[in-house]
Amino acid sequence: MRLSSGLQGELDLIKKVFADEDCNEKNILEVAERLYQEGEKNIYARLLHIMCHLRLEATEARDTWHNIIRHRDFLEKKLARHTGFRVAMLDYFVNESHEIRNPKVIEIHVYAETARQAAVDELTGLYNRRFFEAALEREIKQAHRHARELSLLMIDIDNFKKINDTHGHATGDAVISALGRLLKRSIRREDTACRIGGEEFVVLFPETSADGALVVSEKIRTEFANLNIEGCTLSISGGLATFPGDAQEAAALIKDADQMLYFAKYSGKNRIVCFANNKRRHIRYPLQWELSLKRQGGRNGQALSQDVSIEGISFEFEGEATPGENMDLSIAVDTHSLELPVEIVWVDAAQQNKRLRAGARFLFPSEENARSLREQLPLGFEAELERHAE
Ligand code: GH3
Ligand code: MG
Ligand code: MG
Repeated sequence: MRLSSGLQGELDLIKKVFADEDCNEKNILEVAERLYQEGEKNIYARLLHIMCHLRLEATEARDTWHNIIRHRDFLEKKLARHTGFRVAMLDYFVNESHEIRNPKVIEIHVYAETARQAAVDELTGLYNRRFFEAALEREIKQAHRHARELSLLMIDIDNFKKINDTHGHATGDAVISALGRLLKRSIRREDTACRIGGEEFVVLFPETSADGALVVSEKIRTEFANLNIEGCTLSISGGLATFPGDAQEAAALIKDADQMLYFAKYSGKNRIVCFANNKRRHIRYPLQWELSLKRQGGRNGQALSQDVSIEGISFEFEGEATPGENMDLSIAVDTHSLELPVEIVWVDAAQQNKRLRAGARFLFPSEENARSLREQLPLGFEAELERHAE
């Protein structure tokens, strides 16, 4: 028997332990002890927490459990009738150990429903942010203990404001719940999908590599884009990060996935960006900068950048260039200009206007120019730089 962790695990346990309407107590006690022997050392602590909300350590919980059994036997002998474990438990905690002073007795299915509601988002039926945070911590611990990977996908619906504005809030809600249903049917039982904000979702994929999570994420992305909800144009962007390769702690894993989501948005939306595929090279930002181009001993000209990273730049221009050639680029920044010597790495024909496209790497820019360049690159870039420096 595999015990899943988290709320679903607790609800499964409740079902297992209390499902027997005749309250086949002997059976419950045997199952609990067997699970304990099989290595589920927390079983008694979990059971006691479910049954009376007391938090006890594993060994203390087991001792208490056995005290309750002894107390039950004692009561049954005195009363000369069946009392059962639960009645004995109540008497034990209230009158013997005094751990509970004002007990409240409820049906277990009422408790289970309350617990479910506290963890579940109304609109989609997915878990909420509070549940996600606890689940992530738990899954990281699990992954660490068993030396397994854990992938985290963060999703945000593209241009959602426009959907609301054009089609109305009710349609917006319908889009959110459709994504909720799509997530549910796309993931495995051990995965956890949560709605953590208005149109923001996360999925936890235990025992899953970045490549594996990317396959599922891409499937979700394309299926979502193919949904037809009142003619809305639908797409999602996503960021993926994986424990332990990308980060070893919850907050860092969230940050990585979030940064990749940001990058997915920045580079045109409707895509999933994977941290593992981006950390080993510099992120290229699709920035259109007007450049002045000085060829050494040659003609000056104008160029338009296509993308820029901390290492290099690609641009379109009219004129000539040869791989290996050095040039000076200058970029107008606020009141001054940023001078960046480059070496041309490749040259290609541009699609239009007989212009050329070239890729170049920056040649030892001065400290000041390097800092200035960094300041021109968008948010999130600093973190990317730090990581690269590691
Ligand atoms: P981007 O592609 O950059 O994500 O653009 P966006 O328009 O999706 O931008 P943003 O994330 O800022 O907008 C989210 C909007 O979602 C803002 C809010 O009005 C709307 N929203 C948040 N929660 C709900 C909800 O429960 N239902 C509906 N219908 N709209 C919501
Ligand atoms: Mg958003
Ligand atoms: Mg959005």
